[in-house]
Amino acid sequence: MPELPEVETIVRGLRPFLRGQRIESVEILWPPSIDRPAPQDFAAAVEGRIISDVKRRGKYILMPLDDGSFLIFHLRLTGQLLINSPENLRHTRLVMRLGNGGKLSFLDARKLGRVYWVRNAAEVVGHLGPEPLKEEFTLRGFAERLKKHRCRIKSLLLDQRFLAGLGNIYTDEALFLAGINPLRPADSLSPDEVQRLYRAIRTVLRQGIAHRGTTFSSYLDAMGNPGENQEALQVFRRQGKPCPRCGTLIEKIRVGGRSTHFCPRCQPLGQK
Ligand SMILES: [Zn+2]
Repeated sequence: MPELPEVETIVRGLRPFLRGQRIESVEILWPPSIDRPAPQDFAAAVEGRIISDVKRRGKYILMPLDDGSFLIFHLRLTGQLLINSPENLRHTRLVMRLGNGGKLSFLDARKLGRVYWVRNAAEVVGHLGPEPLKEEFTLRGFAERLKKHRCRIKSLLLDQRFLAGLGNIYTDEALFLAGINPLRPADSLSPDEVQRLYRAIRTVLRQGIAHRGTTFSSYLDAMGNPGENQEALQVFRRQGKPCPRCGTLIEKIRVGGRSTHFCPRCQPLGQK
């Protein structure tokens, strides 16, 4: 599932291609991919509009249009946005033809991704917590908000209302880097642990972007290239392999229904 670094990489690839381009036509191959409005209204709303920019908010891709409205994509598990993909690729759900003769295709094998056209972006992304790589995400604010939650730290970090953009990969990597057990109650972290976690979140996300995302199965950038961050992962999907720091075997457990990878020695259940 694309997380912040993957979506950011896609946005950076799309932006120079889409900015200033007119949407000439929209072809909807799988209408349920359109969350709102109704598919026929969707096409009428975006055809003829100019894409002003391409931005990211959490795991959402936002395209402000020249009339002040927004085209928004949420890729969920397997969604892809590809520039000038060959004709008839499997799983194509939506195709937009552009003024420069190019096209943007939305593909989605599992059909869980969603496309929105809204007048007000907050309708779709208004629930999201702070952006972890922006100034709005402060150590002090993070510490204060952690104190209000007793749930497991792993589950809280996955909650997009708490913090936008983290998914299973970068949450496990950040908790390892900070030396914090994923089962710890969020409000039990010491000030030192909070600071380590704050820094670790930003470090793993920046590294993910620098490596152009993590590809295990379906994630590709806007040009169709896989990322390289899978080579740099320390614990995610490395269960049974030695911890890169201490050699103890990485374990895999389930936390809140999500597979979770950690080193039992570097991330003990008690405070470090
Ligand atoms: Zn270890």
